[in-house]
Amino acid sequence: MKKQLTNTLFFLFILFAFAYPQKKEINVLYQYSVINALSAGVYDGGLTIKKLKKLGNFGLGTFNNIDGEMVVLDGKIYQVKTDGTPIEADKKLLSPFAVVTFFKSDKTIELKTPQTLQQIKEIIDEAVPSANYLYAVKISGEFQKVKTRSVPKQQQPFPNLTSVIKNQVTFEKETVKGTVIGFKMPEFIDGVNVKNFHFHFLSDDKNFGGHLLDLVLDKGKIEIGIIKEFRCQLPSTENYTKTKFVKEESYLQNK
Ligand SMILES: [Zn+2]
Repeated sequence: MKKQLTNTLFFLFILFAFAYPQKKEINVLYQYSVINALSAGVYDGGLTIKKLKKLGNFGLGTFNNIDGEMVVLDGKIYQVKTDGTPIEADKKLLSPFAVVTFFKSDKTIELKTPQTLQQIKEIIDEAVPSANYLYAVKISGEFQKVKTRSVPKQQQPFPNLTSVIKNQVTFEKETVKGTVIGFKMPEFIDGVNVKNFHFHFLSDDKNFGGHLLDLVLDKGKIEIGIIKEFRCQLPSTENYTKTKFVKEESYLQNK
């Protein structure tokens, strides 16, 4: 009888272990590498897409050799290369820089009238409780216009990011439903991540995306997740260990 009970408990334990494999930590930021490393040309990292999926379901980044922009939404990771069409990233691909979280909205703002990107940034600045926290920002809705970019794949020896961005390819789409995925970061994050705003975009039909340069929203909503805990893992690659980081101008700021 006792053995039977032990067996039953063991069976239940196995069942729960499979049903709840890992506790997902909501609105905790996981970051791989630092933006100053990417800026200096450290485009080779050791983080697989398979592992990244376990660290968050929402975010952005890039791939090794900066082979396209990364968009993470609803647990799927998309790669937007210079042809402008998102594809689901192969789980064996590696990333040199990624920022993800398990997103949960703490504050939702409905937008019923058209807004420019600048106006949206001002609304977010007004809505957040403090300039000293990190925020995951999700903007979904119908857009009058969206402008994105991607960057061409690089080979060793890597040029710095400013040189690469000079060869960026831009895309524009009018009347598109989709989601802006990104973060608002405090001033003190500068060098570790991109301070202020950094956004990527993915259309609902998954045919359009990239690093966001500009938009006009027709109607939609802004959802904001407040982040008070963040973790950063640094790469072990030779390029990371040997590269001297230099401070650059805000090359990632949206124009
Ligand atoms: Zn970006």
